[in-house]
Amino acid sequence: PLDLAAKTANLLGAKNREVRVEAVDHVNLSIRKGEVLGVVGESGCGKSTLGRMVAGIHSPSGGDIIWKGKTYSQMNGSEKKAYILAVQMIFQDPYSSLNPRKKVIQAISEAPIAHGLVQSSERDEFTVKTLERVGLDPSLRNRYPHQFSGGQRQRIGIARALAVNPEFLVCDESIAALDVSIQAQIINLFLDLREELDLTYMFISHDLSVVRHISDRVAIMYLGRVVELASAKDIFADANHPYSQALLAEAPQITEGHRTFHPIKGEVPSAINPPSGCHFHPRCPHTTARCKTDKPELKEIAPGRYSACHLNAA
Ligand code: SF4
Ligand code: MG
Repeated sequence: PLDLAAKTANLLGAKNREVRVEAVDHVNLSIRKGEVLGVVGESGCGKSTLGRMVAGIHSPSGGDIIWKGKTYSQMNGSEKKAYILAVQMIFQDPYSSLNPRKKVIQAISEAPIAHGLVQSSERDEFTVKTLERVGLDPSLRNRYPHQFSGGQRQRIGIARALAVNPEFLVCDESIAALDVSIQAQIINLFLDLREELDLTYMFISHDLSVVRHISDRVAIMYLGRVVELASAKDIFADANHPYSQALLAEAPQITEGHRTFHPIKGEVPSAINPPSGCHFHPRCPHTTARCKTDKPELKEIAPGRYSACHLNAA
């Protein structure tokens, strides 16, 4: 196993905001080398924050990340630098992270040259190889980001991440802005790259059908907590947690030939002041008195299956 665990608590929100938000609350996850771990939840559940912490963009105010047996907070400068390069993030909109005045060749080759992974003299050859790897025509390497379609820009974003030889990609809604046909192409690219480059993924999405397609295991998050963690097969065949069940029921049933929609009862409560006990209790159809006061821990309910619900108590 890769032994990457994010054990985090009390994460501060954006620095310029005054409220302290517990975006991620005692999440403890291990990700196995070579797997795709899907992370699912409604907006505001903390999944993006978790991804940013794993990618070293946000630092947790409590807890830690363990990478290959080393604890992030105890790494020295060069170990931290190596970690930051090994874990790359793919965002929803690569356009906002691509400098409009820089050609594709610059966007792709700058970081690896700066980090001494590629010689300046090899810039052209390296860019061609990297663009071919993501299925983009390398003859376009001297163009600017605005000259590409959304799907092509996402391929440029992926190429730029791959340019520093990562081992782990955190994909945050990486295909959410793309047309459905392009989404399928990018998912297939991620899966091909996993084979080719031995990559591991954290794949964050609000879209269950996407997560189902790409993930080996799935973590369902609700208001900063992981409420269920299991193989994709188990979650989709037989979800344990009432919130997972509600999410699955809410997902459009395209296979039936028409879309049905059963919104979960009630609004998503605020992460600033989440409900006591089980955060899901105001919306759960099985709430008991205990749910309002006691926080359910994530417990192993069957080999490799975890759920945080009092209904599982012996
Ligand atoms: Fe529902 Fe209680 Fe389980 Fe929370 S702990 S999901 S409120 S039954
Ligand atoms: Mg998000």
